Amino acid sequence: MALFRRRKTVFVDSDILVVGGGMAGCGATYESRYWGRDLKIVCVEKANIERSGAVAQGLYAINCYMGMQWDENQPEDHVRYARNDLMGLVREDLGYDIARHVDSTVHKFEEWGLPIMKDPETGRYQREGKWQIMIHGESYKPIVAEAARKAATEVYNRIMVTHLLMDRTKPDRVAGAVGFNVRNGDFYVFRAKAVIVAAGGASHIFKPRAVGEGMGRTWYAPWSSASAYALPIEVGAKMTQMENRIVLTRFKDGYGPVGAYFLHLKTYTQNAYGEDYEAHWRDSIEQMVGDYVNHHPVPTCLRNHAFLEEVKAGRGPIRMVTKEAFQDPHKETVGWENFLGMTIGQAVVWASQNIDPKEINPELTTSEPYVMGSHATCSGAWASGPEDYAPSEYQWGYNRMMTVEGLFGAGDTIGGTAHKFSSGSFTEGRIAGKAAVKYVNDMGGDGPEVSEAEYEGLRTKVYQPMENYEVGRNEIVAGTVSPSYLLPIHGLQRLEKLMDEYVGGISSHYTTNEPLLTRALELIGMLKEDLNHIGAEDLHQLQRAWELHHRVLASEAVTQHTLFRQETRWPGYYYRGDHPKLDDTDWHCFTLSRYDRDSGTWEMEKAPVYHIID
Ligand SMILES: Cc1cc2nc3c(=O)[nH]c(=O)nc-3n(C[C@H](O)[C@H](O)[C@H](O)COP(=O)(O)OP(=O)(O)OC[C@H]3O[C@@H](n4cnc5c(N)ncnc54)[C@H](O)[C@@H]3O)c2cc1C
Repeated sequence: MALFRRRKTVFVDSDILVVGGGMAGCGATYESRYWGRDLKIVCVEKANIERSGAVAQGLYAINCYMGMQWDENQPEDHVRYARNDLMGLVREDLGYDIARHVDSTVHKFEEWGLPIMKDPETGRYQREGKWQIMIHGESYKPIVAEAARKAATEVYNRIMVTHLLMDRTKPDRVAGAVGFNVRNGDFYVFRAKAVIVAAGGASHIFKPRAVGEGMGRTWYAPWSSASAYALPIEVGAKMTQMENRIVLTRFKDGYGPVGAYFLHLKTYTQNAYGEDYEAHWRDSIEQMVGDYVNHHPVPTCLRNHAFLEEVKAGRGPIRMVTKEAFQDPHKETVGWENFLGMTIGQAVVWASQNIDPKEINPELTTSEPYVMGSHATCSGAWASGPEDYAPSEYQWGYNRMMTVEGLFGAGDTIGGTAHKFSSGSFTEGRIAGKAAVKYVNDMGGDGPEVSEAEYEGLRTKVYQPMENYEVGRNEIVAGTVSPSYLLPIHGLQRLEKLMDEYVGGISSHYTTNEPLLTRALELIGMLKEDLNHIGAEDLHQLQRAWELHHRVLASEAVTQHTLFRQETRWPGYYYRGDHPKLDDTDWHCFTLSRYDRDSGTWEMEKAPVYHIID
C-alpha cells in the first residue's frame, strides 16, 4: 500500500480534453482553439505528439484528397467509393461531412510547410491514384503536431489515459479522464466539460504472423492499443461495426505498402505459375456476394478473397510483378523511396533475403486482422451526424458526439466512416473540436462534477499491477513464472492466440462460426478474471498492463459483433463458416453494441443504413 501513497496526484481542469495527439487529436486541438479562443484546451498523449500515432514515422502519400479546386472529384464521389469498398455499409452523412472539408485541411498542411509533390505540367498536386496525392512526408507528423502545440493551452505528453470519468450527478455525462505518467508514475485526474477521444485503432489483438522476437513487426503500429474503443466502451458508449476488422495484402515479412506499386508503378500480381488469378475466382465470388464483385473498383476484401483462395488452391505464393516496372530508372527510384519514406524495414528485409525487385518478383502475403476506423474498414463508436445532412435517426445532439453526453470522437475512434486516412482523420478531429466548443458554450456554467471516491478508486486500480508484482515477486518459481501474477506479455499472447484460433485470424484462414465465437467469449471471460492478477515490475510494464486491458475489452466487442452479424459480409476480411454468404435481406444494416460494465453484459441491436447519395 505504501506504493500508492508515494505517488503524486496532479489535477488538470479544462474545457475540452483531447485524448490522443495523433492525426485526429491534433486536428481536434487545433480547431477547438479556432472556435474557442478563451477556452482551456488540453491534449494528453501517451507518447509525444511530435512523433506519435500511426503516422509517426512519416508517410509518402495523403490518401484522402478530393481536388475540388480542379474539379477532380466531388464529396459525393468519395462517399460512393467508400460505400462500394465497404460492401454497401457506411455512414454516408459522416463520410460526406469529412469529404466536403478535407481539401481545406490538406491546404493547411501545405501552408504549414508540408512539401506536396506537383505535376510539372499541370501544376496540380501529383496524384498517385484517384484519391491519393504524393508528399515528401518524413516530417508530416511534426508539422501537424506543431499546429496542435501552438493551439493547446497545454499538451501533456507521456501520460497514458486508462479510464474516463463520469459526472457524479449525471451518470450519463462524461466528466474527464484519469491516467498516469509513464516516466515518473504521477497519477493524473483530468476534469473536463467535453472529452474528445482520438486514441487510434487496435493492433496485436490477433496473433501476428511474426512472433517471438519479431512480434513488433506488424503492419499496424504496435503501440495502437485499442484505447480509442475501450475507453468509450467501458462507459457505455454504443459501438458500431466492430466485426469489420481489416486484413491487408502487403509485401511479405516487411508489410511494405503496395498501393504506390499498383497505382503509380502500374505493377500487378500473379500466382506462382505466372498466371493472373483474380478472374478465375469471379464466378464463385458472385455466388457468395452477388453483384458487388462487378463493381468498380472491386472491393478490397474481395481482392483479398481471390488471393486467399488461390493460395488455398495450392498455387501460391502470390507475387507482385515488379521486374517490368523496375527497368525504368525513375520507377525503380520511386519503388525504393516508397519504403524509405515510411516502411524502411521492407527495404532491409529485401536486402537480407537477396530480393532485388528488378530481378525477382517479390512475394505478397495477407496480414493478421486489425481493428481501425479510418483505413479501409470502419469499426468504432456510433456518433451523431452533422445537423445539415444527417437523417434524424443519426442525430441526437452535437456532431461526432457519441451516445454518452459530452463524449466526442474522431479518426479511428469513430465508426461507419472508412477511407478517411490521415487527412480525413485530422478533418474529423476538426469537426469534433468545433462541435465540442459549441457543446461547452451551450453548457454555460453547468460544469461537470467529479466524485473523489471515483478517482481515488481508479487510482488504486491503476497501480494494482505494481502492487501485485511487489507482493508476489519473491514467489517466482522459474524465471518469469509466478503463481501469484501473470505478466502483460503472457496476457497479450493468450489474447492473440484465442482471437486467432476462435475469432478468425490467420491460422484458421480468417474463418469462424457460432460455436467458436461462443467459446471465445468464455475464454475472454476467464482472461478478464485473470487481468486482476497482472504483475507490473515497472512503469513500462504498467503501461503494457493497461494496454492489455484495453485490447481485451475491444476484442470482446469484436467477438460479440462477429457473433451477432449472421452473414459473411466481407469475405477476405473474415468468414462466418456457418453463414458463408452475404445476406442483404437481413443484414444490410449496422450492428450496434452497448456494454454494461456493472453486469458485464452486451446489448446488441441493428441500425438502418440510409443511402443519402444516389
Ligand atoms: C501502416 C499504416 C500506413 C498508413 N499509410 C497512410 C498513408 O500512406 N496515407 C494516409 O493518408 N494515411 C495512412 N494511414 C492512415 C493514418 O495513419 C490514420 O488514418 C491516422 O493516423 C488515424 O488518426 P488517429 O488520430 O485516429 O490515430 P493515430 O494517428 O494513430 O493517433 C492516435 C494517438 O493516440 C495516442 N494514444 C493511444 N492510446 C492512448 C492512451 N490510452 N492515452 C493517451 N494517448 C493515447 C497514440 O499514441 C497516438 O498518438 C496509415 C496507417 C497505417 C497504420
